Amino acid sequence: MLKIVLGDITKVSTDAIVNAANTSLLGGGGVDGAIHRAAGPELLAECRTLHGCKTGQAKITKGYRLLAKYIIHTPGPVWNGGGKGEEALLKSCYKNCLRLAIENGCKTIAFPSISTGIYHFPLEKASVIAIDTILTFCREHTELEEVQMVCFDEQTKSYYEEALVSAQERGNVNE
Ligand code: ADP
Repeated sequence: MLKIVLGDITKVSTDAIVNAANTSLLGGGGVDGAIHRAAGPELLAECRTLHGCKTGQAKITKGYRLLAKYIIHTPGPVWNGGGKGEEALLKSCYKNCLRLAIENGCKTIAFPSISTGIYHFPLEKASVIAIDTILTFCREHTELEEVQMVCFDEQTKSYYEEALVSAQERGNVNE
């Protein structure tokens, strides 16, 4: 089941939450900074052992002081006009996070809106890619019971809701 909610992902109690990280995995602004502050300094210590992560890939750590057991870190693509493979990279972020979640026995996972903040990916395109990729993955991997899109503002939430309605109209349905 895919739920779109308004809120702060650091407060969510899914098995895993996703961090829209940068390739250093050593923390940054936006949701990344919020997750590091809420999880505590042990998170940075574990991240240092991972030696970064490529754009579109994902790596997992413990959740430390968060309610979530795991944090899945994925560097989204920086939007550079769309001709640099940004759409395929964003899709691979969502897929790789979902794959890592099930490999680690997670039944519930929460995503922020990857790349649509500091990385300037257009919200409309990003929301369609995210929703379609999640719905398709969930149809193929029924062990995932719940996926949440945690939107930090109303405008973001309304784009994801619209993308979900349009996916359902196109027949990409997942209950
Ligand atoms: P990126 O660098 O991938 O663009 P950002 O952190 O700048 O990442 O933004 C991604 C999205 O996360 C934006 O919609 C931003 O408003 C949102 N965001 C920021 N803080 C939080 C939070 N605590 N919980 C959920 N979403 C957040």
